[in-house]
Amino acid sequence: MATKAEVLDFIRIYGDKMAEHRQELTDFDQAIGDGDHGINMNRGFKAVSEKLPTLGDKNIDDILKAVGMTLVSTVGGASGPLYGTAFMKAGTVLKGKEELSDQDVISAFEEGVGGIKFRGKAVQGEKTILDSMIPAIDAIKKSISEGNSMTVALEAGEKAAWEGVEYTKTIIATKGRASYLGERSIGHQDPGATSMAYLFQAAKEAAKK
Ligand code: ADP
Ligand code: MG
Ligand code: MG
Repeated sequence: MATKAEVLDFIRIYGDKMAEHRQELTDFDQAIGDGDHGINMNRGFKAVSEKLPTLGDKNIDDILKAVGMTLVSTVGGASGPLYGTAFMKAGTVLKGKEELSDQDVISAFEEGVGGIKFRGKAVQGEKTILDSMIPAIDAIKKSISEGNSMTVALEAGEKAAWEGVEYTKTIIATKGRASYLGERSIGHQDPGATSMAYLFQAAKEAAKK
């Protein structure tokens, strides 16, 4: 994910995935929340995809900020502000960039996860978005530090994200709506961790092209 075209591809691919997996994400949320996560994410990224054609001549930071602002303004619920903040924050570390180094990509992910932590006041292990996002970023950093390309690192990142999703089945939710269920949230996969794993899948696919 180095060029602006790849960043735009990533956003488009992720939007397609949110449409494709809308029902699945909603079903996961039906079990432990209010059954709208797929609807929320799909609504947000449908609005993003309508904006994408107007963003092509902007810098990467402005593209990501526009995506974040669109998510915040079109998605109700927890996920809109959380994903929106992540995209806006990621944009802030890429000022004026038309192309991203591996370090830029890592910085953007780190700034994004920092935004989600700040906004949601959660830590790893609370059955949230963070449980796939943090392991994915750690795996990407490790892979890059071992001398791999970003394409290879993103493969490792996606794998770690899905392992994080599996882990959410084993823990109690202590943030968000699912926390109302307490122990009864055990055994269920977290919808937000799942949508975040698809984000790393989209990044991997965009980088491969
Ligand atoms: P809502 O719960 O408002 O209906 P969504 O269903 O769209 O919003 O999103 C639910 C997901 O949001 C959860 O599965 C969880 O991963 C994530 N989430 C909820 N609260 C937090 C938080 N404080 N920090 C990080 N992620 C959170
Ligand atoms: Mg919900
Ligand atoms: Mg809701």
